[in-house]
Amino acid sequence: RGAIAFRDVHFAYDGARPILKGISFEVPAGKTVAVVGPSGAGKSTLSRLLYRFYDVQTGSITIDGQDVRDVTQKSLRAVIGMVPQDTVLFNDTIAYNIRYGRVTATEAEVEAAAEAAQIADFIRDLPEGFRAMVGERGLKLSGGEKQRVAIARTILKAPPILILDEATSALDTKTEQEIQAALDVVSRNRTTLVIAHRLSTVINADEIIVLKDGVIAERGTHGELLDRD
Ligand code: ADP
Ligand code: ADP
Repeated sequence: RGAIAFRDVHFAYDGARPILKGISFEVPAGKTVAVVGPSGAGKSTLSRLLYRFYDVQTGSITIDGQDVRDVTQKSLRAVIGMVPQDTVLFNDTIAYNIRYGRVTATEAEVEAAAEAAQIADFIRDLPEGFRAMVGERGLKLSGGEKQRVAIARTILKAPPILILDEATSALDTKTEQEIQAALDVVSRNRTTLVIAHRLSTVINADEIIVLKDGVIAERGTHGELLDRD
């Protein structure tokens, strides 16, 4: 479930300068495809189109054969989980932030998600009173901790499709490796679109698409792309 197909996608934000100039690729159900390329290449634009923050001008994006333009943004949010570069948390408890999008989840389910994302101990160890408030006047979470909250949220939501948009780019090397390991677990058996700027962070992807100036410059596995260099 959750197969994504981009077909001859063209897009320009202002109707003038084209950002995507005929992009076609697929993310087969359960597989991971990474889009890499220099800043400004149009990588995040692809995820915004998938999410219908904007609509493609020509071409199409489909999920399991259905054009996303025929799906409401609300429905898309139900099937797509997103871990962005800088997770912005609500000024509320960590549990609230994990539960966001699945308000009916039980305490035990939230706890299990926190456990899987390896923040359960961290939350338990917090002094009473600060236990879970994040944001203003509350607890200041590090970048890695925020990403773990986003991962716990995704584990709880269990969407068939996952977008990892530079999810580790803002982290130091050690934290990046820890968060990457957690993301590898979350994306297993889930249709995953990874957006990254470095090839070295997407070695496990089933396919890598190299985007340059709005076109696909190269594609292949990590090994194939390295061999060609
Ligand atoms: P990448 O993710 O590869 O860094 P983006 O998809 O974010 O690239 O952006 C591609 C191009 O589109 C950039 O030149 C950027 O300045 C431009 N762009 C991004 N968002 C907007 C917007 N809302 N309005 C106009 N131009 C935009
Ligand atoms: P930008 O890079 O300009 O922020 P994105 O396409 O990466 O644009 O997404 C915009 C924001 O919408 C993300 O940063 C993310 O916080 C939020 N968002 C989108 N989908 C979800 C979701 N399913 N759950 C939580 N937040 C989401």
